[in-house]
Amino acid sequence: MLRKFVFYPLYLVTGIALLILPGKALAQAAIQSFKLQDVKLLPGVFKDAQQTDLKYMLALDPDRLLAPYLKEAGLKPLKPNYDNWENTGLDGHIGGHYLSALSFMHAATQNAETNRRLDYMLAQLKKCQDKIGSGYLGGMPGGIGMWKDIEAGKIVADTFALNKKWVPLYNLHKLMAGLRDAYVIAGKPQAKYILVRLTDYIDGVSRKLTDAQIQTMLISEHGGLNEVFADVSVITHQQKYLTLARRFSDKQILNPLIEHQDHLNGLHANMQIPKAVGFQRIAEVGGDADYGNAAAFFWQTVVNNRTVVIGGNSVNEHFNPTGNFSKLITDVAGPETCNSYNMLKLTRHLFEEEGAVKYMDFYERVLYNHILSSQHPVHGGFVYYTSMRPRHYRVYSQPQVNMWCCVGSGMENHGKYGELIYSHNATDVYVNLFIPSRLKWASQGLKLSQTTKFPDDEATKISIDEARPKPFGIKIRYPNWVSAGALLVKINGRSIAVNAQPGSYLNLYRKWKKGDFIEVKLPMKITTEVLPDSSHYIAFLHGPIVLAAKTDTTDLDNLIADGDQFGGYRARGKLYPLNEAPEVAVNNWDLSQALKPVKGKSQTYIAPQLIVQDKFKNLQLIPFYKLHDARYMIYWHQQSSKPVENSKGE
Ligand SMILES: [Zn+2]
Repeated sequence: MLRKFVFYPLYLVTGIALLILPGKALAQAAIQSFKLQDVKLLPGVFKDAQQTDLKYMLALDPDRLLAPYLKEAGLKPLKPNYDNWENTGLDGHIGGHYLSALSFMHAATQNAETNRRLDYMLAQLKKCQDKIGSGYLGGMPGGIGMWKDIEAGKIVADTFALNKKWVPLYNLHKLMAGLRDAYVIAGKPQAKYILVRLTDYIDGVSRKLTDAQIQTMLISEHGGLNEVFADVSVITHQQKYLTLARRFSDKQILNPLIEHQDHLNGLHANMQIPKAVGFQRIAEVGGDADYGNAAAFFWQTVVNNRTVVIGGNSVNEHFNPTGNFSKLITDVAGPETCNSYNMLKLTRHLFEEEGAVKYMDFYERVLYNHILSSQHPVHGGFVYYTSMRPRHYRVYSQPQVNMWCCVGSGMENHGKYGELIYSHNATDVYVNLFIPSRLKWASQGLKLSQTTKFPDDEATKISIDEARPKPFGIKIRYPNWVSAGALLVKINGRSIAVNAQPGSYLNLYRKWKKGDFIEVKLPMKITTEVLPDSSHYIAFLHGPIVLAAKTDTTDLDNLIADGDQFGGYRARGKLYPLNEAPEVAVNNWDLSQALKPVKGKSQTYIAPQLIVQDKFKNLQLIPFYKLHDARYMIYWHQQSSKPVENSKGE
């Protein structure tokens, strides 16, 4: 994942000096991230997910992913394309994601095969780019001709098409982002060479177009091209790519956001989120305050008004009207995983800039309840839509069959869990997430490890394995889900006064030495959350963890997705009537009494007082991220005078 420009140099094995570009970006970011190489996951659910992802990634054949690029360059592919989205017009997009996923996984695990594959992919892509000769590179069939047409001013754009091709700019963004990650994250100079040549080609074409023509192109889905162009300006120290990034910023979306107006109802959600990541990136690199304000407002309105309990957004890929979330309940196509992947990128950038705990609270919510839950823990299949419909279910991808967007972003997701467990400022370290891991901060001579079974245990322990003999702060996140006064801390076995409130960082400043340890108690309580439109559907949480009930395993049609292009990722099984779903009683609940822990089972509850129908009274609520291969309840209708109408969904 990206770094802010001010600490890019930390990332680059080639050691580029601090670059000179104007604007606020020259100010030090409030908080900086560690390299994935510096953070090792220790045994736990995230390490498991990382290893499962690695297996999934290695099951893919690089030659099949490269075939679209070789064909387009006029070279003979070694193997055929994959099917599904890889030979129906979006050819090559998974290859782009694969470069990113290999880069993250290699950085996080040092797995030799991921490194070998990354080198191989880059060598083959360079061969393709050399053969084409113009600097262009791409897997989309007919891409060379399409760009010649665009250069000549022939531009016909629709939401999902540009010059009658399936989202070519989106596809291009995946490749460019993959090349960027291969350079910035994995340190591959060849990736930079290919990326800059490709950017120069696009820049050359763009110089022949008016701003209005570029804005017309941007009607079609284009991922975060503005983001990657801003990155290229950082990598090359050249202003012209920042100009390109600004020209490729969709003003239809940007301008209202600058005015703090939310006009997002009904828009394709995952088309907009990467644009906002790009706005933020342009603000960081170029100091454009308007772009930064637009990105921060976008985050705020999406998180506060458009996000459901698992941290995801969208129904059938689109932003819902904020006053009516009924489709979330009736439709089987709940939040798309790509959206959360992109929201986490935006969240991370904003967190690094502002250091506010609200960003980490959101990040954690999404990480457990959407990202982690979107991977099958055994076969590693990825989920596209997470249905919120009572008693519906999710389907999972297969490595050789399904080539959806959420497979591409899915492979990336589980390789970069280390990106934000810790961060730092000039001298102090932040403990943001309670995930078992080991941190090495070489420039400060610090090594620490975190051991925890969180969220099964409401506690974590941080041990100092090495420290320089000078004082510094260890800042522990005090999440908003822990009550005021409830967070307890011991240092080397002795309780200390906690001078911090929920939503802040507790700064433990002292001369730390090897062998010191910090124990933190993070009492979790049961809470409820209604749908953002305040309608009578509620969900239960334990701390940041969404609880769900497995209702049954009947009619799980297409549980392992078939190869149908636009139907494979939908849970097509029978819709169970909404008016027969479990309901909860309306009451002034004492939740600590109403949800009773099941003995011997961590984070497992029954709620016989709450659940109305006798036949559902023994349903168990468990963390949603542990629930797979079944129909489930996340949102429960509150029994009221208004009966539930059944809906056929869509
Ligand atoms: Zn997707």
